[in-house]
Amino acid sequence: MPDIATKNTARRRFTVTGQVQGVGFRPFVFRLAHDLGLTGSVRNTPEGVAVEVQGTPEAVEVFGRDLQGKLPPLARIVGLTQQELEPEAGEQEFRILASTAGHGHQVLISSDTATCADCLADMRDPSNRRHLYPFTNCTNCGPRYTITRSIPYDRATTSMACFPLCDACRAEYENPLDRRFHAQPNACPECGPKVWLTDKDGRTMAERDEAMRRLAEALAEGLVCAIKGLGGFHLACDATSA
Ligand SMILES: [Zn+2]
Ligand SMILES: [Zn+2]
Repeated sequence: MPDIATKNTARRRFTVTGQVQGVGFRPFVFRLAHDLGLTGSVRNTPEGVAVEVQGTPEAVEVFGRDLQGKLPPLARIVGLTQQELEPEAGEQEFRILASTAGHGHQVLISSDTATCADCLADMRDPSNRRHLYPFTNCTNCGPRYTITRSIPYDRATTSMACFPLCDACRAEYENPLDRRFHAQPNACPECGPKVWLTDKDGRTMAERDEAMRRLAEALAEGLVCAIKGLGGFHLACDATSA
């Protein structure tokens, strides 16, 4: 008695290329498979993302449709191939596997994207642990291209590698139902980059939101300020001042 009924179980591999890393694609695939009761795996590869799903033929069919139809906001599929596989006996769950390294050229890394409405709401909420934290981001927004050192896109290959996640951020990062599940630049005031203000001689004048307030005051007074961003320095001044 085989433990997989061949007629009622299908297994299919999807190989996806395009803008599919660093855009919440693996969590999206995980949730999709989970909701449809499918087992299998997803992982980043140098070429893009490789997905295998197993379940009823109907569920596999729906998965294939939703994979293209319900994409996360920053994801873009350029190429998609499908291959029917022999079902695997005894598979119990759907898993996100470690990325495979290599030297691919097919992955498009998303551009850096402005803070999304959900993250802005976090920053404006005085009871939120990211209240006024300027580096707030999630899988739908935040830095991507500028922090990427190599692909596959994982935290270890970004400039965020030197900021180990605190317990609270790690819990978000590991929770498939969280908006920050596998968000590589995930950060908070505890564990992430900090903002500070220096004078022209490099002496620290203020930190955190006090630094932002002092910067705003300096600009209002007509000073020229250099703001260090993700990809370089941004020169700022009052454009209405001759
Ligand atoms: Zn966001
Ligand atoms: Zn944190």
